[in-house]
Amino acid sequence: MASEAEIPARDAMEFDVVVVGAGPAGLAAAIKLKQLANAAGSELSVVVIEKGSEVGAHILSGAVIDPIGLTALFPDWKEKGAPLETEVTDDRFYYLGPAGVIRLPNMMMPPLMNNHGNYIASLGNVCKWLGEQASELGVEVFPGFAAAEVLYDEKGAVVGVATGDMGVGRNGEMTDRYQRGMELRGKYTVIAEGARGSLSKQLIAKFGLDKGRQPQKYGIGLKELWEVPAESHKPGLVQHTLGWPLDNGTGGGSFLYHYGDNLVSVGFVVHLNYTNPWLSPYQEFQRFKTHDLIAPTLAGGKRIAYGARAITEGGWQSIPKLTFPGGALVGCAAGFVNVPRIKGSHNAILSGIAVAEAAFAAIGAGRAQDELTAYSDSVMSGPIARDLKRVRNAKPLLSKFGTALGTALSGADMWANTILPGIGLGYTLKHGKPDHASLKPAHLAPRIDYPKPDGVLTFDRLTNVSFSATNHEEDQPVHLKVKDMALQKESEHDVFAGPSGRYCPAAVYEWVEDGGTPKFVINAQNCVHCKTCDIKDPNQNINWTVPEGGGGPNYPGL
Ligand SMILES: Cc1cc2nc3c(=O)[nH]c(=O)nc-3n(C[C@H](O)[C@H](O)[C@H](O)COP(=O)(O)OP(=O)(O)OC[C@H]3O[C@@H](n4cnc5c(N)ncnc54)[C@H](O)[C@@H]3O)c2cc1C
Ligand code: SF4
Repeated sequence: MASEAEIPARDAMEFDVVVVGAGPAGLAAAIKLKQLANAAGSELSVVVIEKGSEVGAHILSGAVIDPIGLTALFPDWKEKGAPLETEVTDDRFYYLGPAGVIRLPNMMMPPLMNNHGNYIASLGNVCKWLGEQASELGVEVFPGFAAAEVLYDEKGAVVGVATGDMGVGRNGEMTDRYQRGMELRGKYTVIAEGARGSLSKQLIAKFGLDKGRQPQKYGIGLKELWEVPAESHKPGLVQHTLGWPLDNGTGGGSFLYHYGDNLVSVGFVVHLNYTNPWLSPYQEFQRFKTHDLIAPTLAGGKRIAYGARAITEGGWQSIPKLTFPGGALVGCAAGFVNVPRIKGSHNAILSGIAVAEAAFAAIGAGRAQDELTAYSDSVMSGPIARDLKRVRNAKPLLSKFGTALGTALSGADMWANTILPGIGLGYTLKHGKPDHASLKPAHLAPRIDYPKPDGVLTFDRLTNVSFSATNHEEDQPVHLKVKDMALQKESEHDVFAGPSGRYCPAAVYEWVEDGGTPKFVINAQNCVHCKTCDIKDPNQNINWTVPEGGGGPNYPGL
């Protein structure tokens, strides 16, 4: 390892606003800033950095998109060619049993669940398009750069971020490829890392942004993209299920969307407050595809991509304080997903717009490095608040009463909030424990036997990972940091029977026998950046940090 004295100083670049993450939230913030500056005829420099090799490479979503956010950003998005090709024409909701299925009548569903006017698309492709719009407006978009460190001034305000060094070898030594990271400094720094961002996590802890809030809740979403025979394709069909193969006490459900050119997005979300350490979200997803409601749609088709990503589920009561001196959290870094609607991209864009308006006004008034309170005021009293408040009890009801009763009660609660807008039933339920605290010791939970994959409809994890086009430079330090290896053995292995080997959707973690003792092996090169280990490790002993920029999945339009 090079000594401090040998490490060259970092070069710094100055901007008005630095944005971390080229998802819908970060790109919307950058675009709106430039639109405001251009309209006012003023100069404003904005940079967006993205850890994926290109914009969209790390984006994984459903996605049924409510265009409210996009319309606010570009009222003429259709004319501009935004890739929202397929309008929703048919919306179905099912409760699955092992062999049967009950369709829930649409008229029973609260109106907010209606997908009329929404579009099925690849959010990755939408982000690519947003990235092009941002560049055209003069935003500097830098894919392939991971923000590894937050920069602070002497008063403790955030003044930007530093990208990670490239070319550091596995043991921390400088290799021939060595390149020092850059400092990107700004009057304001917008953190748009999506669910469980690595810098967001540090900022939330440093500034106590989650004080007095309910813990953030998460799910893991796994997705495959299929090309199906034309006769099985029903463009515009949106189908959701609850129930099988999950038991009543395990939250989650599926989505299946027909769009584009014979494409079907099929995915499964497992809520990460599951209790059985033997459960494998990946295997549940594979099993789900064998149901009679699903298998015929995929028969004769081929899976063309795979990936996984955490989704925030805490909603209204888990929103952290949104600002800190010098910056703000936007999009899923703050957790704006409407869980019953399984939608967050619209709120991500709306929050990006709101932070841009606040930052533009602040910079225009000569301010810098203070708190953008106008942004949090706008979120907590505007359309994002309205969207999230009315569904705030859905997730706690599901967690407390299980899928069957919880769905009925949350439906009634959402109806009440629709009929009595702004009042509803007047209460806000709590989430209780964070997700890492929900696992039972392995000896208290039933083992689950999963069927072997057939290689046609169901696949083993490693084969599927190859369809995420994941690629990391092999000669770099492991980016999954285990804080205390002894604790990992005594607790994660001995008490919980190694759940990381099952919750990781990319087979990164394994316990292997080494001279008679279990050894924790981390195949970091497979990591698809879903962040589940950072969330679900029962001791919070695994810390996800950014690997070299440009590594990770290369999702082809997920
Ligand atoms: C399985 C699943 C299904 C979903 N279905 C839907 C749906 O149908 N409709 C819908 O509206 N929403 C859906 N969502 C939610 C939606 O995807 C999110 O709400 C939305 O993507 C959040 O946008 P964001 O910009 O905040 O974060 P993200 O989309 O996660 O983007 C964050 C970006 O920041 C980058 N990044 C992170 N950290 C760093 C760093 N340190 N340095 C540089 N770059 C970084 C990431 O690589 C990524 O590109 C779904 C989510 C999942 C997981
Ligand atoms: S190592 Fe962690 S972040 Fe990477 S794929 Fe596995 S669970 Fe997800």
